[in-house]
Amino acid sequence: MSTKRNNPETIAIHGGDYRSDTATNAVAVPIYRTTSYQFNSTEHAANLFALKEFGNIYTRIMNPTNDVLEKRLAALDGGLASLTVSSGQTASTFAILNVAQAGDNIVSSTDLYGGTVSLFTHTLSKLGIEVRYADPSDPKNFEKAIDDKTRAFYGETLPNPYLRAFPIKEVSDIGRKYNIPLIVDNTAAPVICKPLEHGAAVVVYSLTKYIAGHGTVVGGALVDGGNFDWTADPKRQPLFNEPDASYGGVVWGKAVPELTGANVSFAVRARVTILRDLGSALSPDNAFGVIQGLETVALRMKQHCENASKVVDYLKKHKAVDKVIYATEHNDEINSRAKKYLKGGYGALVGIELAGGIEAGKRFIESLKMFYHVANIGDARSLAIHPATTTHSQLTEDELAAAGVTPGYVRLSIGLEHIDDIIDDLDQALENSSKGKLKAVS
Ligand code: PLP
Repeated sequence: MSTKRNNPETIAIHGGDYRSDTATNAVAVPIYRTTSYQFNSTEHAANLFALKEFGNIYTRIMNPTNDVLEKRLAALDGGLASLTVSSGQTASTFAILNVAQAGDNIVSSTDLYGGTVSLFTHTLSKLGIEVRYADPSDPKNFEKAIDDKTRAFYGETLPNPYLRAFPIKEVSDIGRKYNIPLIVDNTAAPVICKPLEHGAAVVVYSLTKYIAGHGTVVGGALVDGGNFDWTADPKRQPLFNEPDASYGGVVWGKAVPELTGANVSFAVRARVTILRDLGSALSPDNAFGVIQGLETVALRMKQHCENASKVVDYLKKHKAVDKVIYATEHNDEINSRAKKYLKGGYGALVGIELAGGIEAGKRFIESLKMFYHVANIGDARSLAIHPATTTHSQLTEDELAAAGVTPGYVRLSIGLEHIDDIIDDLDQALENSSKGKLKAVS
C-alpha cells in the first residue's frame, strides 16, 4: 500500500502542509480576507522585505488561502512551487515576462488558444518581445527558430481546435541542449498529463477550466518544476543571472536557492517582481472557490474523459458529421503522442465538422437544448461553441487557417451529465442541423 499519499485524488484534497487552521482548527481552508499582516517586530518586517525570511506581507503578493492552493497545485504536478494569479491569461503573460524582456524572443507552438495568440502576437510584440511560431507536428521546427535571444519554448498540452497532443519531451529535450526552458499550458489536461515529468520546466494553468471545474471562478497559476538550472548559461537567462535593480541588486538564480534551499527561482521572481509590479493577484475568495473545485478534479477528469470518448464513438458513426477531431483521431505519430503524454483519458474537448458546413453549424448550435452555448471549456456542464465567430474571431484569415478553425467547426466541451442525456441532446441537434444537406453514406 502506498503511504506517500502521492496519488492525484489524495493530493487534490490533502496536498501541501495545511491540515487545519492553526488559530481555530477549522478543517476547511479559511478565506483570509485581509490585505495586510501585522509584523512581529521591526526586525521581522525588515527580514520579510529582504527575503531573509518568508512570510506574509501584503495580499497582492501572498495570502494564506492562496498559499494552500499554490502548494496543492505544485504537489499535483510534481513541482516545487506555484504562484496563483487572477486569470489564465495572466499566468501565460507572467510566464513569459519572467524570462524575457524587450529585445528577447520566445519560440511558441502554432497550436494555441486564440487568446494566447493575440497576447503573443499583439501585446508582447508591443513590449518588444518577439514570438516566433513553430509547427509542433515536427519538433525540430523549434530548434530551427532559436537564436541567442531565445529565452523559452511555449506549447499547449492539448490545444483546440486541432486537439493534437504537444510533443513535450521532444521539444523539452531540444530546449535543454540550449538551456531554454519549456513552458507548457496544461489547462485542458490537468491530472491526465504531467508536463514536468516529461521535461517541461514550468506549467501554466487557466484554473477557470477543469481545475475550478464549475464555471464559477476565473483564475490562473504557474507551477515551477524546480527542474531547470537557471544559472547554467548566464547569457541565455539574463533575468536570473544579472543584478535586479528593482530588488536591491539581487541575482535571482543564485539568491533564491541560497535563501530557500530549493530551486524555486522562477516562482519567487514571478511573485516578488512581476506580481508585485503588475498586481494581478487572485483574490482569496476566488482561491477558496478553486480549492473546492480542485478537491474533485481527479474524479471529474475521469468522468469527463469517459463521457468524451463515448461521444466520439457516437459522432464517428453519425451521417451528419463529416469529421470528428479528438486527441486520438489523427495520424499514427500524433496519436502516439496522445498515448505517451495523456494517462487515464484523452481529454473532454471534441471537435466536429458538420457535413452541411457553416449553416449546419449554426443550426446545430441553436438546436442544442442541454448543452450551453458559451465561450468556456472545462465546466461540469456540457458546452458548445462556434470558434470562427467567437473565440477565434480576432484572428486574421491566415491565423485562422493556421489555427485549424474552419467555418463549420464546432467545439464541444463534454461535461459530467449522464452520457445518455449528452448523446440525446447531440442526437436531436444533429438531426436538426442536417435538415439541409447530408453527406452521402457509403
Ligand atoms: N489557456 C487555455 C488553453 C485556455 O483555454 C484559456 C481560456 O480559454 C486560457 C489559457 C486563458 O484563461 P483565462 O480565461 O482564465 O484567462
